Order: sequence, then C-alpha cells, then structure tokens
Amino acid sequence: MPDVIVLGAGMAGVAAALHLQRRGWSVALVDRQSPGRETSYGNAGLIQSEAVEPYPMPRDLFALFRVALGRGNDVRYDPLALFGHVGPLLRYWWHSAPARHQKISAAYATLIGRATAEHQHLMTAAGVRDDLVRRDGFRVFHRSEAKLDADTATAERLRENLGVAFRRLSPAELGTAEPALRDTGAGALHWLDPWTVRDPGRLVAAYAEHFLRTGGTFAHGDAGTLAATATGGWRVSTADGPLKAANVVVALGPWSPALLRRFGLKIPMVRKRGYHRHWRGGQNLDLTLRDADFGYVAAPMAAGLRITTGAEFSGVDAPATPVQLGRAEQAARGLLDLGAPVEAEPWFGTRPCMPDMLPVIGAAPRHRGLWLHFGHGHQGFTLGPATGRLLAELMTGETPLVDPAPFRPARWAR
Ligand SMILES: Cc1cc2nc3c(=O)[nH]c(=O)nc-3n(C[C@H](O)[C@H](O)[C@H](O)COP(=O)(O)OP(=O)(O)OC[C@H]3O[C@@H](n4cnc5c(N)ncnc54)[C@H](O)[C@@H]3O)c2cc1C
Repeated sequence: MPDVIVLGAGMAGVAAALHLQRRGWSVALVDRQSPGRETSYGNAGLIQSEAVEPYPMPRDLFALFRVALGRGNDVRYDPLALFGHVGPLLRYWWHSAPARHQKISAAYATLIGRATAEHQHLMTAAGVRDDLVRRDGFRVFHRSEAKLDADTATAERLRENLGVAFRRLSPAELGTAEPALRDTGAGALHWLDPWTVRDPGRLVAAYAEHFLRTGGTFAHGDAGTLAATATGGWRVSTADGPLKAANVVVALGPWSPALLRRFGLKIPMVRKRGYHRHWRGGQNLDLTLRDADFGYVAAPMAAGLRITTGAEFSGVDAPATPVQLGRAEQAARGLLDLGAPVEAEPWFGTRPCMPDMLPVIGAAPRHRGLWLHFGHGHQGFTLGPATGRLLAELMTGETPLVDPAPFRPARWAR
C-alpha cells in the first residue's frame, strides 16, 4: 500500500509526486491519461521567472468596456456562459484592487523566485536534454511606443524591487535579433531570465519517467472514484485494481473543484480557456514572442510554431470557439511566414485560476489525509516544481521553503 496517492499527472501532480518520493514516501500517481497530456501539454512552454505579479482583472472602466465590446483579443467571453463565471469573477475583481494585488504579488513572488531553480533540480535529476530547454528569455513585441514605454516602466519597477532582468530593444535591434520578423513595430521588451521549453508535455513526461525510475508507480484511473475508507484513509479505482492510502493529493488542475464538491468542499475557480495550434512556417523565429497588441504568444516548438491565445470565458463543456486564435493567426501572419497549420483542429484547455490569483497548497480542512495542490492559473507550468516541493514539505512536517500561509486551502475550502 502506498503512503500517498497523487491524483493528476500534470506538472503539479508529477512534481508533487517526485518531491514526496524524495522524502521517502511511497507514491502512486493516477491519471486517466499519460502524464503531461492536458493543460501542462498545451501551454506556451514559458518558465516565467519574470511573472512576479499575477494577472489582475482590469479595474478601469476603459479596459472593461474594451473587453465588453470585444475590442481586444486578450480576453473574450460568451455572453450566454457569463452567468456561470459571475461569482468567481466578482471575487477576482475584489482581489485585483491595487492594495490587495500588491499583497498577493508579494506572496506570489516568493514562489516565482524559486521556479527556475526548482525546475533545474528536477531537470538535472531527470537527465532532461539541453535541446528541450532554452535559457535566453522571451520577448514582448509592441506596435505602440506609448505601450512599450508603459511596459518598460513596469519592468524598471520590477527590476528595482525584485531584480527581474530585461532589456528594451529598438525596432532595429529587434530586427537584428529576429530577422524573420516582417514588422518590428515600436520594438520589444526582452525578459532575459525566463526559460522556454520546446515541448512542455515532454518535460512533464521526462519528470514522470524519472519518478518511475526511482521507485514510483503510475496507474490509469478515474479520480472520480475517490472515496474515503472506513479506516480513515482513501481509495481509488485504477486499471490495475483498487489503490488505498492514508493520504491523497488532489492535483487535477481545472478539474479539481468538481471532484472536491463531492466531499463538501465548494471552491471557486476562474476558468480561463486558452487555445493553441502549430504552424509549419515561422520556425526561423528565434525566441518566443508575445504580441502585446493581440494577446497571443508565438512559441517555437518541436511540433511547429505554437500560437497560444489569451483567456476565453466560455461554458465548461462548450465546444471550441477559436475566435481569438483566428485573430491571432491573422496578426501573426503580418509578422511571420506561418505556412500551413499542423493540426486539423486547434487544441484548447483551461487555466485553473483562483480568484485571489494564488495556488491552493496544503491540507484540506476537515478531511484527514486530503491534500490540495492546484489553482496555478497562468503559471502552473512554471510553478509546479516549487509548489510541489512546498506541498511535500508541509506533508512531511519539514520547514517550508516559503511561507505557506497565503496558499492555505482553508481560505476557500470552507
Ligand atoms: C493556452 C495556455 C497557455 C499557457 N502558458 C503557460 C506558460 O507559458 N507558462 C506557464 O507556467 N503556464 C502556462 N499556462 C498555465 C499552465 O499550463 C497550467 O497552470 C498548468 O499546466 C496546470 O497544471 P496542472 O498539473 O495543475 O493541471 P493539468 O496539467 O491539467 O493536469 C491535471 C491532470 O488531471 C488529470 N485528470 C483530470 N480529471 C481526471 C480524472 N477524473 N481522473 C483522472 N485524472 C484526471 C488530467 O488528465 C491531467 O493530466 C498556460 C495555460 C494555457 C491554457
């Protein structure tokens, strides 16, 4: 019998499983798919050491009107589905007030500050090949000088307060760095320290393979079969038979709240859908580029140039409405020779965002042996190894690497 069952083999689940195993626990990882096939596969592959402030909800009326009128491309909503988002969005709005956002950012920065170092530990242990990861940052492209000035001012503040490194590139400098670009606009902001991963799902799979090589087990199974046992533990059905353990970790990303509702825990989540598709051209783009005006990221990946979109508020099971991806493609074609798409249909998935923009890490209130590790929002691929370590430290009673109080589940799971 394992000491713990970890439900969910995305970046969050795999990293938590590895950290628990390192601390001498026997760990069984369970997912209905192979590791790293969902949100942790479909993202932009950025390990974002610059993202020390989580995305707040815009609070000025101009920005909100822009979203309401469908003017920008970074946020889109389906009016019919909006009702289902209202509760979490109102809380998100409340937490986005400048003073609250500042406090939240201080907590967030403690985790982001550990992100690349914690990935490096796992990459070294797992023998991840250098061609999967680049350590040269990414660029944010601007067409408007005023917006680039504003972005630069934010970057200067972050450099002064937290040592985040960047360089502003003139249009000519951007053209030299990225000869494939047809338009260099007003230039770009180059965040120097983030890492980019050419196949995010492969990185999760590499961590999972290391977990298996060092004694962990993986089983296909449905987390929906989770039940408390009569002896105070937990049981889940898998393709290899039933699994029982004294502890269970819920690391199901955007699917976590639905499972926890069955155990009386009502946890609000802001569900931000995003799309991606690969294109055969654009491979001569050197570094990942975010287009600030059209809210998409163009990332050179093993499968082609991956374009990922901003946030869409749609129904949970709504079919794909890749409107933002269409606009992003059009804008990207003005910058790069994209060529033909690789896939017939775009991929989509959901960023599991908490209304206070902080992940949920720690023991569930009231349920002995139930541990929560989800809600990593826009930066779960970045944060998984750091938060997985924090969770493992809390579970084993070690001194935690950062103050865990801001991330405690009890703030939501009442
Ligand atoms: C378009 C887009 C771009 C992004 N870009 C970035 C980026 O560049 N950098 C970054 O840091 N983050 C990025 N993110 C966010 C990041 O991808 C997520 O925060 C992160 O992947 C969440 O990881 P997770 O392990 O919590 O969830 P997931 O990766 O979704 O893992 C959850 C797992 O639970 C499993 N599961 C669900 N239900 C069940 C069940 N009933 N039974 C068994 N298993 C189940 C799933 O199969 C899945 O493997 C992006 C997200 C999107 C959508």
